Amino acid sequence: MVVFCFLVDQKRKIKRTKPVAGSCSRCRRGASVAEIITKTRFCYVPIYWRSSKAIVCTFCDATLKTYP
Ligand SMILES: [Zn+2]
Repeated sequence: MVVFCFLVDQKRKIKRTKPVAGSCSRCRRGASVAEIITKTRFCYVPIYWRSSKAIVCTFCDATLKTYP
């Protein structure tokens, strides 16, 4: 039996956060700088991942600023 698998998905995971000066524009709470790991999976096997940094709000999950 041959099983064809065309399942590709991306998972975003926040690895760690650190409080940073400034506040969230949505809920006015403290913002954090986060390291985000984006994993691209093919048939549930991670084939590619990259990390990026962004300013996020850990209370309402808003992304306030991303770094290229
Ligand atoms: Zn917020």
